[in-house]
Amino acid sequence: MISIQNVNKSFGDLHVLSDINLEIPKSNIVALIGPSGAGKSTLIRTINALEEIDNGSVVVDGVEIHAKKTDLNKARTNIGFVFQSFNLYPFLTALENVTVAPRKVKGLGKEEAEQKGKELLTSLGLGDKFDAYPSKLSGGQQQRVAIARALAMDPQVMLFDEPTSALDPEMVKEVLDAIRKLAKSGMTMVVVTHEMGFAKEICDEIVFMADGKIVEKALPSKFFSIPDTERARNFLSKVL
Ligand code: ATP
Ligand code: MG
Repeated sequence: MISIQNVNKSFGDLHVLSDINLEIPKSNIVALIGPSGAGKSTLIRTINALEEIDNGSVVVDGVEIHAKKTDLNKARTNIGFVFQSFNLYPFLTALENVTVAPRKVKGLGKEEAEQKGKELLTSLGLGDKFDAYPSKLSGGQQQRVAIARALAMDPQVMLFDEPTSALDPEMVKEVLDAIRKLAKSGMTMVVVTHEMGFAKEICDEIVFMADGKIVEKALPSKFFSIPDTERARNFLSKVL
């Protein structure tokens, strides 16, 4: 579903992604973990071309994301992205946040978009918040609206960059539960996270990055018990 081959990227002199290769089959869930500055956000952002690459290729659901001929707006409808900072439209209600793209980009009628939006919000525990503006919602609620907004486009792939890092501790669980539910539905996902227990529980593969490189790829059970590298052991000793 996602194929990343020989991807390199530099910011000026800084080589932030070094020969990245990663294959993610349909319905698989990959956790991207590693120290600050490792290149996790840069890598996940290349998957929907929020970040350009210097060379290599990224193919999502058969579409070469960084090719000149690719219609990026169209390709991105297939790739939901959830940010640490929610990024909801502040002047739109929860339901409007969820329906705006299906209406504008997919051309769905108001009624159809609203019906679907209400179903999504309800399934994420926000059945009583359709008309609430983001400023009236808690961080956890805002993040669940952001997840509903991404899902409203019927993506084949969902990308999460530290979806719970900006949340108060008591709101982390409700957002992780929403992602758990998606995992059970067979969604293909890449999740940058510092929630190691969560990564261990829901992910098929752990990808450990440091200094712009993939240092280890392993099953969670293996990675969290007997990592291969000193770099990973050192990282785990700090976060576990
Ligand atoms: P964190 O866990 O802190 O979020 P990360 O693994 O997501 O870290 P990235 O944000 O991908 O790390 O950054 C990788 C490196 O690239 C860092 O050294 C960062 O300073 C640098 N970098 C990221 N974005 C830019 C940019 N737009 N311009 C210049 N350097 C950048
Ligand atoms: Mg980051």
